Amino acid sequence: GFNCGIVGLPNVGKSTLFNALTATATAQAANYPFCTIEPNVGRVAVPDPRLDKLVAIGKSQREVPTSLEFVDIAGLVRGASKGEGLGNQFLANIREVDAIIHVLRCFEDDDITHVEGGVDPVRDAEIIETELMLADLDSLEKRLPALEKRARNRDSEAMAQIEIIQPILDALRDGRPARTAIPAGEEETVRRLQLMTSKPVLYVCNVDEDSASTGNAFSEKVKARAEAEGAAVVIVSAAIEAEVSQLENEERREFLEGLGLSDSGLDRVIAAGYKLLGLSTYFTVGPKEARAWTITVGTKAPQAAAVIHNDFERGFIACETIAFDDYVRYNGEAGAKEAGRLRIEGRDYVVKDGDILLFRFNV
Ligand code: GDP
Repeated sequence: GFNCGIVGLPNVGKSTLFNALTATATAQAANYPFCTIEPNVGRVAVPDPRLDKLVAIGKSQREVPTSLEFVDIAGLVRGASKGEGLGNQFLANIREVDAIIHVLRCFEDDDITHVEGGVDPVRDAEIIETELMLADLDSLEKRLPALEKRARNRDSEAMAQIEIIQPILDALRDGRPARTAIPAGEEETVRRLQLMTSKPVLYVCNVDEDSASTGNAFSEKVKARAEAEGAAVVIVSAAIEAEVSQLENEERREFLEGLGLSDSGLDRVIAAGYKLLGLSTYFTVGPKEARAWTITVGTKAPQAAAVIHNDFERGFIACETIAFDDYVRYNGEAGAKEAGRLRIEGRDYVVKDGDILLFRFNV
């Protein structure tokens, strides 16, 4: 599965957010495989209103959303790259995740200490990013001598690696994250280097309760910075989300409406995380269940089938495909088929977000 690591300075609201995310999953998903896997790892259902429609049209007994994993990574402080505050251990955790959710404190509260003195989310973002860049720089500089030695012996693989690493090193030395210097087409190679600043980032502004629907002056500054970087921003009040996570669906909606919020901040964080990871959803619909499955954007039909079962990929013959809008417009499979909207696609078909698929395969 794919995961997002939640990072940020101490006392910004990481754990509050993480607990709210996993509490919601637990409350809503009694019979689903969503849970707290370890104290700091939780699997969370990805809300998708399309599933409600599919379950109704397909007359399935239940719906099963797809999921995303979140990891609460505590302990990052100034100096982490030099081992401060158990820095190395936490940095190792960040290397493992696919994307980074950077929580920034955008609320004032005299009772809650700010490790850097006062509230300044842009400064905080820079502190964390600097630590991550220093650690990345350190790890590349450690690799380089061995690669250079191999390159001198005309090792073509090492030479290719150096060519990829060099612009990233230049960027890091210049104070820019690795993600700004990934050579075109080398995303996969760079991913394997596990550089923290090569991972996509989402900023979550944790604002005071009164600013949950509007944001505040702090979150505006974060937005300006994020825009310059091409990064996404979500505004939440972790304190509100902690309350929302304790409520059942109907109560939840009323509570949010009372605060002038159209949806929960958690839902927005999950949706933004999904997008950040370049993920896409297809569905299967049967009498037992309507179910969402996660693939990366651009995945072809046989590899999409493998998400359900490896045998589906090995024995793949074809897939019956209906676009989501057609499925709804023609009221299900039979209607879509009659209208000529059910397509038979082969192994080169790139699955589209929202496709309803039925795989044909040899056993
Ligand atoms: P972490 O160290 O980043 O994981 O931060 P925590 O989630 O443990 O939060 C630190 C403290 O700030 C706790 O006492 C929280 O109750 C409090 N806190 C978190 N979010 C908010 C918020 O949005 N508003 C206020 N006033 N306090 C918050």
